[in-house]
Amino acid sequence: MTHCFRSMLHLSSATRLSIAIVAALMCLATYILMYEEIYPGNSLFLSLPIVLASWLFKLRGMAVCLIGMLLVILLFHSISHTGLFLSHRIYLFFALGGFALLLEGFITVSFRELFDVSDETQQRMEAVYEQQQQLNQLREQFLLNVNHELRTPLTATYGYLELLVEYHERLDVASRATFLSNALSSCEELQRLVDTMFDALYLRQEREPLALEALSVSEVVRDVIDHFDPRRLHLYDLHIQVPQRLVVRAHAHSVRQVLRNLLSNATKYAPEHTPLIISAALYDPTTVQHQEHLAQEVCICVKDAGPGIPPEEIPHLFDQFFRLRRDMMSKVYGTGLGLYVSQQLVEAMGGRIWVESAGIAGQGSTFCFTLPCVPREQGSTT
Ligand code: ADP
Repeated sequence: MTHCFRSMLHLSSATRLSIAIVAALMCLATYILMYEEIYPGNSLFLSLPIVLASWLFKLRGMAVCLIGMLLVILLFHSISHTGLFLSHRIYLFFALGGFALLLEGFITVSFRELFDVSDETQQRMEAVYEQQQQLNQLREQFLLNVNHELRTPLTATYGYLELLVEYHERLDVASRATFLSNALSSCEELQRLVDTMFDALYLRQEREPLALEALSVSEVVRDVIDHFDPRRLHLYDLHIQVPQRLVVRAHAHSVRQVLRNLLSNATKYAPEHTPLIISAALYDPTTVQHQEHLAQEVCICVKDAGPGIPPEEIPHLFDQFFRLRRDMMSKVYGTGLGLYVSQQLVEAMGGRIWVESAGIAGQGSTFCFTLPCVPREQGSTT
């Protein structure tokens, strides 16, 4: 019974209205047709439409139903043999019956309000539970990814150092130098990962504005490439298209970090031996064209020929912990923080970051970010 009343609330308002009207008409018809038999005492069945209308439409339903039914009954008595001047018993019936129906209606409305509150609370609790489950899943996935991300460079460092300790005497100078340099670059990788994670947490909090300075784009790009793992970079067909004269106003460490993130992603997700292009040009945001005399920004892009980004996932790409669905399942591990951190850094320097991709494998993706440009004369003096 309770279930029946509950499920009625999920019906469309037109169906609910039909149910209430049919119930009212049936009860009124019974009242009119069986008036002689049932009158005066037992008209309790009139409660049914009132209870239904109050349950389905609360106070509004109760009022409309009660007034409607009383009017019909009044009309019936007026035109029936009872005459227009009703007997005392009829008055009494109206007064007491009406009051009883009103009371029933109010009680039903109160039950409905209580039900709504408990239903709402239950829905809210379910939503919180669902959210909690999602958070747990996200946390587990994050810990799994972080564990793998941190372990990879750590294992490499450990391995090279172990080799150096164990075979120190038997290794020639060149091999020792290689092992040491490999261990060092793994340490650097580890440090970068920890930095990214720290930044992701730190960037959420209020912080001082970044100290901006005039920087040569080509020098920053060269610096990032020089410090990037050469074993990884050599696997790609790297092209650099950055004019010497471009100068931006930016925070050196942050620009390097953003470029490193984009380059790192390109070498992580694009297949080996495919082209990788780093380019920079003056950019006019109003015409979205590269017009030197109008440009106030420099646009720096990293283009790869990897699997690309599915268009429907692009809006979430810069969210914290976001990873593409296909990468959640794959063996390519990641924290989903690199792009989030990059966006925060670029925006803190007054720029924007976005991706252009058709989501077609082989056509890859182009990650671009802008930075305020420094006019040539000003740039050359700094
Ligand atoms: P991470 O790479 O550590 O997972 P990022 O925030 O750098 O975190 O990237 C978020 C997600 O965006 C990645 O997990 C990957 O699914 C996708 N992605 C980023 N760069 C590329 C790229 N160049 N090609 C294809 N997918 C990419």
